[in-house]
Amino acid sequence: LTNELQALRHLPAETTDGYVIPLYLNTGLVSESRPLGIEESAGVGLYRTELPFIVRDSFPSEAAQMSNYRHVLELFAPRPVTIRMLDVGGDKPLPYFPMHEANPFLGWRGIRITLDQPEIFLTQARALLRAAIGLDNLQILIPMISTVGEVDDALSLIRRAHDELLEEGYQVRMPPVGIMIEVPATVYQVEVLARRVDFLSVGTNDLTQYLLAVDRNNPHVAKLYNEYHPAVLRALVQIVNGARVYGREVSVCGEMAGDPLATYLLLGMGVHSLSMGAGSLLRVKKVIRSISRARAREILGLALQCEDTKSVRRLLIEALEGVG
Ligand code: PEP
Ligand code: MG
Repeated sequence: LTNELQALRHLPAETTDGYVIPLYLNTGLVSESRPLGIEESAGVGLYRTELPFIVRDSFPSEAAQMSNYRHVLELFAPRPVTIRMLDVGGDKPLPYFPMHEANPFLGWRGIRITLDQPEIFLTQARALLRAAIGLDNLQILIPMISTVGEVDDALSLIRRAHDELLEEGYQVRMPPVGIMIEVPATVYQVEVLARRVDFLSVGTNDLTQYLLAVDRNNPHVAKLYNEYHPAVLRALVQIVNGARVYGREVSVCGEMAGDPLATYLLLGMGVHSLSMGAGSLLRVKKVIRSISRARAREILGLALQCEDTKSVRRLLIEALEGVG
């Protein structure tokens, strides 16, 4: 890293007119006992729990999961750690849990599996709640929501795990619970969804894939996959505005959050926090520190007038010139 970026390590991610946008870390690699970016981040915005499930030959036990989650909660305490419940299926199959589907991204994935097999959900919820005892920096995030019923069912399972643990004598607390907004249908129901939960986190990787009908991993259509598509930008604006009705905070945790070119747009929309890979933290911080919220809103306004991806990108590149 350049000296210039290093110098930002201990400065806040604050706009020139004083808005602080906490920058969180995306992590979840089993190999990372101490992930990069611990010191520079405000906590963890997306801890992906899939890997320990994928590398084993059976479902990890409550105790094994608990020690995993405890480790990351301790590492960042007292800063918040948002742990996402299991999001297997789609591009992340489990070797010991057969799924043969013609369209895995439209199939049995994430919450759809764990609500059908609630013992998987309950075991993970118990492990999470037990891991947080005495730390209280846990936030739970639910992936692949497409209906309000799924939110209600997931919340009642977490509540059930909580009540059972209390009865067993564990001093657990109900943590804040949020959902991923990554299925286009939820953009149109964002208000009723926001009312039910404590926060929203936008998965721009899936949201882009599903909005544009472009497989995020297929090289044949990679040129069509683009977060600067005007439809994606409009969806993001709608999410933030819908969440505001119930005063819920919106985080963005897809790749877009770590793309410095997107920072002005997300700032302009009024996104509350961003979560990204360690390598992006200082670059994004530098961009945040280069602009006022008012100017970011103006740039967003211009971007929303663009008719295609190319013009959006051109506008953003021009806006960033001089930041370096
Ligand atoms: C996303 O969909 O943007 C996201 C953050 O989740 P994942 O990449 O794990 O699907
Ligand atoms: Mg996703």
